[in-house]
Amino acid sequence: MTHYDSIILGAGALGSAAAYHLAKSGQKVLLLEQFELNHQLGSSYGLSRIIRYAYDYTQYIDLAKAVFPMWAMIEEEAGEKLYTRTGGLDFGRHDQESLTAVIACLRQTDIPHEILSPSEAQLRFPQFRFDDDMTILYQADTGILAASQCVLAQLRLAERHGATVQPDTAITRIIPHPSSVEVQTAQGNYTAGTLVIAAGSWMRPLLKTLGLDLPLYPEKCQEMYFDTSNPPAYEPERFPAFIAHMKYRFPYQPYGIASREGSGVKVAAHGGKRLNDISEVDYVPEQNAIELAQTFSQTYLPEVGQLRSSRVCLYTMTPDEHWVIDKHPEFPQIVFAGGCSGHAFKFAIIIGEILKDLALSGTTQRDISLFQAARFNG
Ligand SMILES: Cc1cc2nc3c(=O)[nH]c(=O)nc-3n(C[C@H](O)[C@H](O)[C@H](O)COP(=O)(O)OP(=O)(O)OC[C@H]3O[C@@H](n4cnc5c(N)ncnc54)[C@H](O)[C@@H]3O)c2cc1C
Repeated sequence: MTHYDSIILGAGALGSAAAYHLAKSGQKVLLLEQFELNHQLGSSYGLSRIIRYAYDYTQYIDLAKAVFPMWAMIEEEAGEKLYTRTGGLDFGRHDQESLTAVIACLRQTDIPHEILSPSEAQLRFPQFRFDDDMTILYQADTGILAASQCVLAQLRLAERHGATVQPDTAITRIIPHPSSVEVQTAQGNYTAGTLVIAAGSWMRPLLKTLGLDLPLYPEKCQEMYFDTSNPPAYEPERFPAFIAHMKYRFPYQPYGIASREGSGVKVAAHGGKRLNDISEVDYVPEQNAIELAQTFSQTYLPEVGQLRSSRVCLYTMTPDEHWVIDKHPEFPQIVFAGGCSGHAFKFAIIIGEILKDLALSGTTQRDISLFQAARFNG
């Protein structure tokens, strides 16, 4: 049986980041992915994800302060552009707590931002319509990460640092030994000093086999791309990413991102159909999600028209929408991260570093108090 210092389960955004950091720190690394690399069945595939400081918890903003330079480092190492600054809008009725909390946290953490009136925002961003009772927040550093490209760059760099990346290899059983871990696959069995589990929506059943039952639920979300009557105005140079804090009007927050590589403008909802298990996912886009995006656009983005394409993409939700990043309470050589709740892509590179820290020393300098698994124990 081949022995590694570290085995990583899952080649999504998180697993590929962990492989990069572990390999770069000199570990002999094996990354096992059940499907092909950059597959479309999990959470990390696609053209774009929003990266932003604008958060309603200062812990995330502190992580964001570290993550922008980390992506710049990956861009430099990979020799590839992954982040495009577009600026970002958060808007909604004045009294929306999710919006006022973001503004308060940006103030508290000294992140530059502007508060615009509806008429000022309308002048600067003529693609949008705003209601008279809205507050509009603008943060200039918000931008787009080229999602699939980021995952593939992390994998390539992990390999460059010596990692073995093996697609089409599902881990079917994990056996903890006193100071190592064995994993079994149809292609062979491997042992390692540490195991990093980054299984996305497949996480809950895997952890259950290790005696840990965490409330992690797949949510069937979807990416949707639309035509516009004025395509140049929806390119990254002119169209900011946005989040509409409008739970008073829509079941999920609408959000959107500029067109990339001729994709059409992305308008979608932050949330979808909650499922109990990954086996329930059918990957057929839901009509009501398309209708939500269209209803939103008719009023707030009037130049956005016909649906061009739509595909299902999974969130893995926790009850409080904070992630889980921790060591196994009984087997500290097993560490894991998941429950990303639809907002971890931007942080993948730093979550990978945290996983590396936990795997190598059992602890990390980063503040991960929000993400402890024990918070779900009753
Ligand atoms: C539509 C959509 C929009 C989003 N927008 C944003 C955004 O704007 N900004 C942002 O920050 N985040 C966003 N997110 C969230 C972000 O994309 C996810 O949080 C992130 O991609 C999660 O990555 P992951 O590695 O945990 O999961 P995944 O990408 O699902 O990776 C898990 C991997 O583990 C593999 N695996 C599972 N079990 C096994 C096994 N037994 N053996 C081997 N391999 C296994 C799976 O095949 C999979 O490849 C969005 C997500 C979606 C779906």
